[in-house]
Amino acid sequence: MHNLSATQTPLLHARRIVVKVGSSLLVERSTGQVNRAWLATLAKDIKQLRDAGQEVLLVSSGAIALGRRQLGLAPGKLKLEESQAAAAVGQIRLAHAWTEALEQHGLTVAQILLTFADTEQRRRYLNARSTLGTLLKLGSIPVINENDTVATAEIRYGDNDRLAARVAQMISADCLVLLSDVDGLYTADPTRDATARFIPEVRGISAEIEAMAGGVSSDVGSGGMATKIAAARIAVSAGCHMCVSLGKELHPLRRIIDGARCSWFYPDANPATVRKQWIAGTLKPAGELTIDAGALAALQRGKSLLPAGVTRVAGRFDRGDALRVCSAAGVEVARGLSAYSSADAERICGRQSSEIEALLGFRGRDEMIHRDDLVLTLVTQSG
Ligand code: GLU
Repeated sequence: MHNLSATQTPLLHARRIVVKVGSSLLVERSTGQVNRAWLATLAKDIKQLRDAGQEVLLVSSGAIALGRRQLGLAPGKLKLEESQAAAAVGQIRLAHAWTEALEQHGLTVAQILLTFADTEQRRRYLNARSTLGTLLKLGSIPVINENDTVATAEIRYGDNDRLAARVAQMISADCLVLLSDVDGLYTADPTRDATARFIPEVRGISAEIEAMAGGVSSDVGSGGMATKIAAARIAVSAGCHMCVSLGKELHPLRRIIDGARCSWFYPDANPATVRKQWIAGTLKPAGELTIDAGALAALQRGKSLLPAGVTRVAGRFDRGDALRVCSAAGVEVARGLSAYSSADAERICGRQSSEIEALLGFRGRDEMIHRDDLVLTLVTQSG
């Protein structure tokens, strides 16, 4: 069975990396405390990635595992309200542990607690995306967890594997690493089946791969292999590489770069392409903006659409809705996600970005449609 050499591993070439850390790694089973010695080595690895110019976000489990001990809850499965209480207590400790570990390296930690709705409703999704983007731009390391204290059974991820994949999709990451208590994907559960074979690479998640997901599970976290395959589906369809790797060794990220055994899932496009295809193709535009020739020329140079270049706003839409962008001649030239509702867009169209606050009473985005949220649909046409 071959392993990827250091120069081949997608982790080395990724620009934006999400690392998911499972409870069973972070929290020592015997004491119920944070495994600080191990965490220190992970923090060092993160620093190394950052020094190489790579952006890193963490999705960290462990709140419930840390809080349950503190609250004296008995071992075994917790009731929902008990996990919510445990998370409320444990999340503080978790955030503290990350802050301590990363600040040693001069890295600032930002805590983000997400609910299912934050990742599934477009407007909230876009808000979370934008906040995470700002945090990265400002050089901090977002540490994300599910907001377990307010999540109820029906609207809850419950596992951070899928949450991490949604985060990776949300912020167009090109690499997701699931640090886990298993070293990758096998054809069967290796603890029960001696003929189980390790699978180093997956291109295309077939029914056969799904079938391999049964069986391997851990008792501290909630993500078995099935949630990892579900995460891989999300990541890969967003153009993101995903890796399942054994996390419990020291320096768990450096090990991957050094060629340790792990399973990689490969996408067939990159995140920017996937996002632009999604904007261009699958959304029903809720409205239309007409733009002037200067704005069109700017879009064709890869710029954002500013309010100043918009001459007409049609339709009723909310912030985050998809819009058709048309030239003065009425030809569709682009599609994109609006940073403003139709009512606000009408008020600021034709005006300078510096006037937005005075016109709307709040300081919104400078762009009507940011270039990351915009795709040209008729590149050669001008009007
Ligand atoms: N959000 C949960 C916690 O922090 C963990 C979910 C999981 O185990 O994946 O305790």
